[in-house]
Amino acid sequence: MNKTASGSRPSDLLPASVLGLLGARGPMTRTELAAALRVSPASITQVGKDLMSRGMVAELGQLASGGGRPARPLSLVGSAAQIVGVKVAASHLAVVAAKLDGTVTLTRTEPFDVTRPDALDLAARAMRAVLEAVDAPVLGVGVGVPGSVDSLESGVADSPTIGWHNAQIGAALRQKLGVPVLVENDVNALAVAEQVYGVGRRYSTYLVVTIGRGIGCGIVIDGQVYRGADGGAGELGHFPMVEGGQPCPYGHSGCLESLIGSSGLIRRAVEAGFWAADETPTRPDDELAAIRRLAARAATDPVLAEGLFGWAGRWLGTAAAGLVNLLNPETVVILGEGTAQWELWEAGFEHGFRSKLMAARRSLPYVVDPWDEDKWALGAAALVIASSFDKDGATGYQGELVRERLSGAAAGRTRTEV
Ligand SMILES: [Zn+2]
Repeated sequence: MNKTASGSRPSDLLPASVLGLLGARGPMTRTELAAALRVSPASITQVGKDLMSRGMVAELGQLASGGGRPARPLSLVGSAAQIVGVKVAASHLAVVAAKLDGTVTLTRTEPFDVTRPDALDLAARAMRAVLEAVDAPVLGVGVGVPGSVDSLESGVADSPTIGWHNAQIGAALRQKLGVPVLVENDVNALAVAEQVYGVGRRYSTYLVVTIGRGIGCGIVIDGQVYRGADGGAGELGHFPMVEGGQPCPYGHSGCLESLIGSSGLIRRAVEAGFWAADETPTRPDDELAAIRRLAARAATDPVLAEGLFGWAGRWLGTAAAGLVNLLNPETVVILGEGTAQWELWEAGFEHGFRSKLMAARRSLPYVVDPWDEDKWALGAAALVIASSFDKDGATGYQGELVRERLSGAAAGRTRTEV
């Protein structure tokens, strides 16, 4: 059997999907499971019976119901399993371990030098230290990288931002860690986390837009992350906004990111006279701190607030409106380090966004999620639990291994071998 082809058959997938969903969201009724997994209630009833007979799922007490048949939620029996996620940045690795419901149990930040020839060895060492510190079976490791990734299963990354070309991340880490490893673009991983823990519970077609050092976008259509022909979709930061304009690291000019990414904002602050050129940070790591200082000044300087952050909000709103007009999503989620200053972006965004939407969509809701440092790595960890309901087989053999481990953990086995 070719284990990497086309993934599991749906009949094999459904029990794992039910286990994964109960692990991620807690007890759910059969009706809720059927709706979330888009299958018939009858098939959930059958799978539930099977999982109960194997001691992996139990029926909780009857819920009060407003008439009709009372609903008894199903709950995962075993599974003290955890998931691990890693966000790779040019200067550091952020690693988290989390319960299946997304509760972070352990978080570490390790300095990291991507330019070193043994960078992947060092990354594996940092991840192994976390795996050893987790007091539960680990279902797998998700890795989020800036840039494009060929597939979650093979995990070959191209990331000009951190100087990785054709980096065989998946293969190297699997071999060094001995657990399933799934690799994905970091913004797509956040979109997956929204599917599991966030807006994906209410919406099936939405955009995840990140602001911060870079500008990114995850596109979820009908419950699936749209990756494009070879994993390169969603480069909103490189959407051309103005003719001419500043060059971006890829050699274009006038991209959205060169306008309102952190280095673009700082350049604008200097050009508009809000800040002296000698205050400009020289290291990319200092940019976000510099933005925080600018925001603090903007609190008492309305001209700076409007001329820098309001201006950035208008550009972002304009770009987001363009995407909404193109893709007709149900909502837009805004995430990333830059949301710390959202109060200052908001009015500009509202104007840029609403004024450029088609009339029928002018009231489209958007959501700004509270941001914290763990979010990138937790997004990567969500790749692991999401592979338990991977209908289209995108996670391949690694996803099958995760599902085996999930079933093992739910059945009370402490470990399944890779
Ligand atoms: Zn560009």
